[in-house]
Parts: sequence; C-alpha cells; structure tokens
Amino acid sequence: MKIEQFPEEIRPYLIPEPKGQMFYQCLGCKTEFGIDHLLYTCPDCGSVLLLHNRNQKHLKDKGGAIWQKIFDYRRMLNHQPLKGIFRYYEFIAPIIPLEQIIYLGEGQTPVVKANDRLRDMVGLDFYFKDDGLNPSASFKDRGMACALSFINHFAKTHQTDSMLAICASTGDTSASAALYASYMGDFLKSAVLLPRGKVTEQQLAQPLGSGAKVLEIQGVFDDCMRVVEALADNYHVALLNSKNSWRILGQESFSFEIAQDFDYSVGDKAVVLPIGNAGNITAVMSGFLKFHREGIIAELPKIIGVQSKHADPVYRYYLEGDAGIETFKPITVKQSVAQAAMIGNPVSMPRVIHVARNYNQVAGERRVFVVRVTEQEIMDAMIIANRNGNIACTQGGESMAGLKKALEEGYVGPEEVGILDSTAHMLKFLPFQEMYFQDSFEPEFNIKPRPELKNAPTWIRPKDLRKYPEPGQPLQGEDMQAFVREMTKEIAGILNLKKK
Ligand SMILES: *Cc1c(COP(=O)(O)O)cnc(C)c1O
Ligand SMILES: [Zn+2]
Repeated sequence: MKIEQFPEEIRPYLIPEPKGQMFYQCLGCKTEFGIDHLLYTCPDCGSVLLLHNRNQKHLKDKGGAIWQKIFDYRRMLNHQPLKGIFRYYEFIAPIIPLEQIIYLGEGQTPVVKANDRLRDMVGLDFYFKDDGLNPSASFKDRGMACALSFINHFAKTHQTDSMLAICASTGDTSASAALYASYMGDFLKSAVLLPRGKVTEQQLAQPLGSGAKVLEIQGVFDDCMRVVEALADNYHVALLNSKNSWRILGQESFSFEIAQDFDYSVGDKAVVLPIGNAGNITAVMSGFLKFHREGIIAELPKIIGVQSKHADPVYRYYLEGDAGIETFKPITVKQSVAQAAMIGNPVSMPRVIHVARNYNQVAGERRVFVVRVTEQEIMDAMIIANRNGNIACTQGGESMAGLKKALEEGYVGPEEVGILDSTAHMLKFLPFQEMYFQDSFEPEFNIKPRPELKNAPTWIRPKDLRKYPEPGQPLQGEDMQAFVREMTKEIAGILNLKKK
C-alpha cells in the first residue's frame, strides 16, 4: 500500500528515523561504553555487554495502542528495510539509517497450529513458529541481519573499506554469517571456525557455498569459541558470535512477531525454546520485556527453556536455585542430536541469569522455567512432529519434547497455549533423521528408533520384469508396456489398491 493511502494519523510514524542513542553496558561492572567502537566484552572487567537505548522518550510518548497500530499498518507497507525484523525498528537498533539496513528476507516467519493428533499427543494446543524458514534456514538470521546492518553502518561512518568477520559455530551461525557477509560484497570477508565432524554436511555446505573461509578444528564448539575469542582479543576482526550484542537485539524480533501475530495478547502463552549458548532465550525474554514496558503487551508469556540431558548446564544451574553467575558450573557435553545446542559453557550465561530474574520480577511471579529431556524424547518428537505436517529440526523436536515435559512438571496447564521455536529447517539436520530410520546411532546417543516411526524407500523390482530403462535408452513398444504393467501390478499390491 502507498503511503498516502494510510490513515493520516499513522502516516508520520510509518517510516522511522534514527533517533535512538544507544550504548553498551557491562553486565559485570555496569560501566557504559559508546558504540563508536566494536566491543564484544567489557574492556574493564571482561564480562558480557548488553545494548540499551538512552532515548526512551520517543518510545514512551506514543503508548502501547499507537505502537500496535504502527506495527499493524507497517505490515502493509512496501518498504524493503522494514519488511523483516526492522518492522520493529524503534525497538531494535534505531540508530541505523534505513538505507544501511541489510535485508535478505529474514524474520516474519509463520506460526503454524499443531493438528489435533499432535495436540492430543502433547496435551495442549500449540503452534510451531517456523524459524527454519529464514534465508539460511535458522533463526540466526534475525541476529545476523541486525549485526551486519550495524557493521555496514559502522563502516560507512568510520570510512572503513574492508573488514574481516569471524565466528565459531555449531553450524548455523556460520551459515548465517557467511550468507550475510557475501551479500555485502568485497568489503566484508568472513571466516568461520567449525568443530570438525560436529556439524552436518548441509551446514558445512552453506558457508562453503557463500564463499567464506571455512576452518575446521578438532574439538567441540566450546573449544572453537576459545580460539575465536583469542583471535578477537589480539587481532583486528569483527566477532559475529552471540557475544556480539547486536545479534541479541535482532533476535528480540522473534518475541515482537509472536506478540503481533496473537494480537498482542500473550498472557496465556508459553514460549518454548532450546538453549545452547542461551543467546536466543535471553533475546526472547528481553523482547517481551520491552513490549511490556511500553504497554504494547499487558502480560508476559511464560518462557520454557529446554536442554538435552547430554548438554544441560543451564538446567543444572536452575536446579540448584538461582544463586548467581559465581556458582555456575560449565559441564563437558556428550553427543547430542540437538547438535546446535550442544554447549557446555554458554557464552550468554550471565545475560540469561540477569534477564530471567528481571523477567520474573516484572511478572510478579515465576514465569521462566528450564526443563530437561532425553535424546530419545528429542528424536521421537521431531519425527512425530514432521509426520504431522511440520518441518521441525532436532532442536524443534527438543522444543516439543520440552513442552510435554513442562506440562508433566506442572509449569504449564492444559488450558495454556504453547508456541514452540522450531529454530532451524529439518533439512539442515537430515543425518539425524537418517540415523533414526536406519537405527545407526552411535551408542553414546542412547537412541532406539520406534519401529512404527521408521521409514525407508522401497525399491520396486517386479520379478517378471526383465527390461528396465537405462541412461540414454528409454524403453519402447512392448517393452514399455510390460514395464508399466508389471510396475503397476506390483505397486497396487504393495499399496493394497482396489480395482475399479
Ligand atoms: C544456535 C541454535 C540454537 C541455540 O540457540 P542459543 O542462542 O545458542 O541458545 C538452537 N537451535 C538451533 C537450530 C541453533 O542454530
Ligand atoms: Zn565490566
């Protein structure tokens, strides 16, 4: 819709201006830093940073009802930079001029209601929010769009003509970073560090296809992260891991979209998401808090974080009460099908502790819970979800298993509604589906496929058929007729078809 067709009272707000005043604040020593340097950790104490906007006045002035209208009308606006996560520009990074925003089609992913069969299996109504439908097929694109838009803005304002961006990854961060960097052309080169053999073939193919320098390292993600941090500390590189707090900002859009998709009524919702580095759950809580603060939503939804028994440091932390980051103990992970969340020492642990406390406090009761599921439960859930019209990855399966667990634990009631983060597309995690169908998991996973959920192709070779098409030699005449006749008979038998 064209600008002049919108109601007059909304027109001035549709195309936003960079009126924010953003700054970093250290979570440890609370020192504030300007954004005219690329910072990842506090130069004083080494703790992680959060980004805030000092100019809250232009947010406060409007009130929740006007904001709802602005976002709802922006949905109809054809303006590229505002098509994705930056529909909520004022709440994300309102310092980046619109023409410097990088938009590759991220965000605004669908929420798909679980069918009746699936609802009955889990025990309450729920939706999958399909973040696998982002451009690099995971939610990481939300954060990357924001981080790279900021880098673009930074480079333009500092007359930087070339940069190297680097990240460690469990697979999806590197796919996303490489994709966005490649869009920015010669100015931004990217290098990604991956734990060798711990990402799927598909995830490895993505940064290779985007032209990134791919570096494989022996070890797990936590080991790669240590190396990347040392590189960022000692050399001129831009860090694209979730220590980069611009990424957290972009990921808050997940919450904004849920709020908007449910007409800003989320008090009866439970948002369920897998926890790896804990960046995503931090962003999701923080997003809802922002909308709540401005009166855009009246109530905060419940937040359910899910971890696998094979990588559960956050679960263990909350099991022992919430005593502060000093008591947090990193763990050594075991093999997990939720490979993208297979992290023993989450980078965002201090953030999650801080934001979860704040969340519960604002809600006036406990609204944040962490549950733990088995590898078996994750795999069964993914396979079952996808047999019911979904496209969940293993982490999406983890979300579904987690919702079921949260119901059993009494954290959610059957009258509530689950919204499950399906964090990536199932096609990225195909090797796990294959291992399930072929019963070929290594013993460490401890997964036995349920026979009724297995699937395999059937090769049709009728015993009376002698001639088959060969490359460059199609069948003809009687041979072709025999081929169709025998094939049809065989298939009708297998499918139990009744004759007309
Ligand atoms: C990164 C990732 C996660 C974990 O998110 P964190 O922010 O690290 O907690 C979960 N699922 C998928 C598919 C991911 O790529
Ligand atoms: Zn500090």
